[in-house]
Amino acid sequence: MEKTELIYTGKAKRLFTTNQTGQIWIEYLDQATALNGVRKDEILGKAELNNQITSLIFKELAKKDIPSHFIKQLSKTEQLVEAVAIIPLEVVVRNVAAGSFSKKLAIEEGTQLTFPIIEFYYKKDELDDPFINEDHIKYLELATDEELIALKEAALKVNQVLIELFDQINIRLIDFKIEFGRKEDGTILLADEISPDTCRLWDKTTNDHLDKDVYRKELGEIVPVYKEVFSRLKNK
Ligand code: UDP
Repeated sequence: MEKTELIYTGKAKRLFTTNQTGQIWIEYLDQATALNGVRKDEILGKAELNNQITSLIFKELAKKDIPSHFIKQLSKTEQLVEAVAIIPLEVVVRNVAAGSFSKKLAIEEGTQLTFPIIEFYYKKDELDDPFINEDHIKYLELATDEELIALKEAALKVNQVLIELFDQINIRLIDFKIEFGRKEDGTILLADEISPDTCRLWDKTTNDHLDKDVYRKELGEIVPVYKEVFSRLKNK
């Protein structure tokens, strides 16, 4: 397996084609951004933690019959995935009020929600990834009605598996963001990453933030925190 051509550079990853059609080589980068890229820092050690955590989580999901684009981990900072065209939607699932939800609806952070709430954001940097609804998705032809039903079902299934996984390591899953992609034959697969960059994770005993909020809110160093999450997952 060889990487052939750089096809995309994102905020925290680089994607390469490979000599194997339909397989993409992802390299995680030691970079963190906030405020849609306005704040940007190099954080040594973050790439390998997010790659290893994402790989472990995609493997756990596969065990529970939730397929993803993940094929295998190639190195500490690299993984091989199936090529998909990313659907430009950030699918957010919330179990506990936090972040933009708390701000928008004036609901105190930490309030347990009575059911998981799904939200959609349109991935469009120049619009700052706006909150959109299902009619917007339909109008913009981002997904069909059937696909939307499948996305919501998959998101809730992922939520259930992640709640249980994190519960085993004394972590409360507050909320998270996932993305999906389409394979050439139209099949939809869970894609991108699932890591402390894309989830809110609170220690069940102390309520400490074990996620990117440590960076967003400048609460301290993120590498030791991400290391803690990885070590709990690995030793579960
Ligand atoms: N999230 C993400 N990428 C984004 C925006 C949000 O991974 O571009 C995650 C975030 O880490 C949190 C969840 O989605 O776990 C909900 O985020 P929220 O809408 O509260 O936005 P925030 O307050 O983080 O801006």
